[in-house]
Amino acid sequence: MSADYTAMWQELGLDLEAHDGLLTVLGAAYRDIYLSQQNRPEAMAYFDFCVSGIHGLRIKELMEAQAEGRKVVGSFCLYVPEEIILAAKGISVGLCAGADLGTGQSGRLLPNNTCALIRSFVDFKLAKVCPYFEASDLVIGETTCDGKKKAYEILGELHNTFVLEVPHTKSASARALWRSEIGRLVGRVKELSGVTITAEGLAEGIRIVNAKRAALQRLARLRAAEPAPISGRDALLINQIQFYDDPVRFTESVHALCDELDGRVAEGEGVAPSSAPRVLVSGCPMAAPNWKVPFLVERNGGVIVGEESCVGERGTRNEVAEGGSSCEKMLDAIAERYLQIDCAVFTPNEERIGHIIEMARDLNADGVLQYVIQFCTPYSMETHRVEEAMRQEGLPLLKLETDYSMEDAGALETRIQAFLEMLTARSER
Ligand code: SF4
Ligand code: SF4
Repeated sequence: MSADYTAMWQELGLDLEAHDGLLTVLGAAYRDIYLSQQNRPEAMAYFDFCVSGIHGLRIKELMEAQAEGRKVVGSFCLYVPEEIILAAKGISVGLCAGADLGTGQSGRLLPNNTCALIRSFVDFKLAKVCPYFEASDLVIGETTCDGKKKAYEILGELHNTFVLEVPHTKSASARALWRSEIGRLVGRVKELSGVTITAEGLAEGIRIVNAKRAALQRLARLRAAEPAPISGRDALLINQIQFYDDPVRFTESVHALCDELDGRVAEGEGVAPSSAPRVLVSGCPMAAPNWKVPFLVERNGGVIVGEESCVGERGTRNEVAEGGSSCEKMLDAIAERYLQIDCAVFTPNEERIGHIIEMARDLNADGVLQYVIQFCTPYSMETHRVEEAMRQEGLPLLKLETDYSMEDAGALETRIQAFLEMLTARSER
């Protein structure tokens, strides 16, 4: 029998009835989308276990760490450096923002044309259903897109919030601003935790996060094999879990999975036939539990081989240079690494186009699915550049603009089926 965490959720101030409703919906979705898959790698059992304990065991761990004086820091974006939080003996958690709660509570604070991701995190906060949110001693926001910037003003009235200023160009003055923001973050984290950030602490934080990224890069490379040894759904799930799990334990578990996938690749064993159209997903982040589009692609015979996304390679591609001789040098290296992220909020953002082409070639993708969350101006507008680059590359592209509701699932599925049929016909020519 699974443990009863009701008292813990009560202590966090969750709305127990709404939270129960959320867990019921998520449990059913997980069974349908994940546990129904055939021929999953055995090592996925660890990640299933993570999901089963996502609101229970992992939260208990966080609260035990807090009882020992450690701080939990929540964030929504790749620009928040986990290395600095770890250096202050803190724990970094991603606040998912990947589900439509259907309560509509955010409607009284946000305009209708707000992207689903922002609406979701405001709804989660207002509805008091996210134990990660409620357990966070501090939430770090960032000045990335306009919607998030303004939403953090609202969030600041509801939760202890700190906003990091992310520049929107990579000019010399922008770099200087970003480096000074990294310094300001160090000060805020020190103030929160009471822990002085030392060179040893930073070096350890850099090593842990680099190792996590290296494990995820190993997993990403294995997906180039034909047939693909793991489904896109499972790979996405692992990329989502990285934002919740203990980073060292997570890294070991990803390597254990990759060891098993090495064997599958050597045996030519896959999760889908070699003839399955290989799809690269590119665009907006798919925060947990946003599984709608990958499910529709794979249910219709495609296989997703990569995610050019924040919950994917945009987040794991670059590592922080190790070996800095002082705190300041290590913070320079952190600032440098994080400014390499090619989010569409930057202008110009040429690197992203090059990365999509590189991934499509490396993963032998048959087509690109450009995923845009409805009302996301940066990624929607950048789609034009991506389309043009894919046309020159000779790769078909399907743009899907959607939110988190299931209302458009039928229409999306029809378009996805047509896209997959076209990819299959091209490969048979
Ligand atoms: S898309 Fe940009 S703003 Fe959104 S999480 Fe990724 S890096 Fe942050
Ligand atoms: S999906 Fe787009 S609009 Fe929404 S938070 Fe991310 S960058 Fe902003």
